[in-house]
Amino acid sequence: MSALPAAVENLVIGGGPAGAMAAMRLAEAGRSVTLIEKEHGPHDKVCGEFLSREAVAYLHQAGVSPAHLGAAAIRMVRLASGRRVVETALPFRALSLSRRVLDAALLERAASQGCDVKRGACVASLTRDDDTWFVHLGNGEKLRARTVFLACGKHDLHGWNRAGGVQGDLIGFKLHWRLMRSQTDALREAMELFLFSGGYGGLSLIEEDRANLCLVVRRAVLRVVGGWNGLLAAIAAENRHLRQRLQGAETTWARPLAISPIPYGYLAERAGGLWRVGDQAAVIPSFTGDGMSIALHSAALAAQMYLSGKGTEEYSRTLRTQLGRPMRLATWLSQAMVTAGGRRAAPPLLSLLPRAMQWIAAATRIPDQALLIRMAHHGTSLTSAE
Ligand SMILES: Cc1cc2nc3c(=O)[nH]c(=O)nc-3n(C[C@H](O)[C@H](O)[C@H](O)COP(=O)(O)OP(=O)(O)OC[C@H]3O[C@@H](n4cnc5c(N)ncnc54)[C@H](O)[C@@H]3O)c2cc1C
Repeated sequence: MSALPAAVENLVIGGGPAGAMAAMRLAEAGRSVTLIEKEHGPHDKVCGEFLSREAVAYLHQAGVSPAHLGAAAIRMVRLASGRRVVETALPFRALSLSRRVLDAALLERAASQGCDVKRGACVASLTRDDDTWFVHLGNGEKLRARTVFLACGKHDLHGWNRAGGVQGDLIGFKLHWRLMRSQTDALREAMELFLFSGGYGGLSLIEEDRANLCLVVRRAVLRVVGGWNGLLAAIAAENRHLRQRLQGAETTWARPLAISPIPYGYLAERAGGLWRVGDQAAVIPSFTGDGMSIALHSAALAAQMYLSGKGTEEYSRTLRTQLGRPMRLATWLSQAMVTAGGRRAAPPLLSLLPRAMQWIAAATRIPDQALLIRMAHHGTSLTSAE
């Protein structure tokens, strides 16, 4: 008879913000937890690297200070479409920090809380037999676990793929740059959003005065322009503001990172005993800059509900109730932003209604997250509390 695989109590698959947060909360509560992350060390990810107020609050609770890690401050949002640029103050102070630095700090923190972090191990398959989960790693190792938190983010695990989302035809790109000094200074404290045919993106400073350019584009448009170089040339031709920012700039890597598909608008339905957290639970369009805060929130909520004896279906229902409204609005806006009409309408509309951008920023985030967790703990739903 073959020996049973090694047993762990709680297994977290994926070491992004969601996985690290879930692991930390379980470890803090004295639970034994093992986290598996496929990358060997700190790595870059496709992300706008914008940390909303809510994300920063969760990071502080977790003992991670983005400011101490060198994050740049963001106080305003500037929208550029065609030849027009409009700007407004953000209704909150935000930060911007590379994922390479942030994710590594979170994982270190999880390890220091007692979580067994295994880097460089990839989960190849996950199956369930009664109350036990069986995991096969890419290196041939096997594990079994009582509870699994699925936090593999943008990458679906074979056999556990997410549904396609509402807006699923976009490809995401991200590249770090060194801008010219004058452009770096002009960009300081701003998140610049730019619209172009078939897509939109963001540019902001991160630590050490590097600039992060992150964008999404419709697959069909990318085919027409013939790939990344063609896309960049097409955007620069169309968007004067971005063209100016990138004049004389140098990239810090040769090629951008890319991700596809991105299931914007996806909200997990049936949990089936699996604690899906982060992008495995919900994917909000990236212009909101709220993905990481949702990742941290869902993980904190899942850990709390698990620790208080609740089940995965109740957790899933709670998260759907909390996220449904901001998710619908953000996805509708994201769909509009990639159309010619949306691109033309956005700047005049926003200059006529300067508070609209602030309203959008507020309406596409989940409300007071600590309150939501307390409500979930006491079995109250958002709708009944409104
Ligand atoms: C174009 C774009 C721009 C965005 N901009 C922003 C922004 O500005 N601000 C913001 O807050 N959010 C933004 N987001 C969203 C944000 O990136 C995600 O919501 C966030 O990264 C989700 O965190 P996570 O922990 O769920 O997943 P991830 O950060 O994707 O982490 C998952 C981890 O799991 C690991 N993993 C995957 N598969 C396996 C496996 N089989 N075995 C072991 N490990 C595995 C990966 O290596 C990874 O480290 C953006 C997203 C996109 C696509």
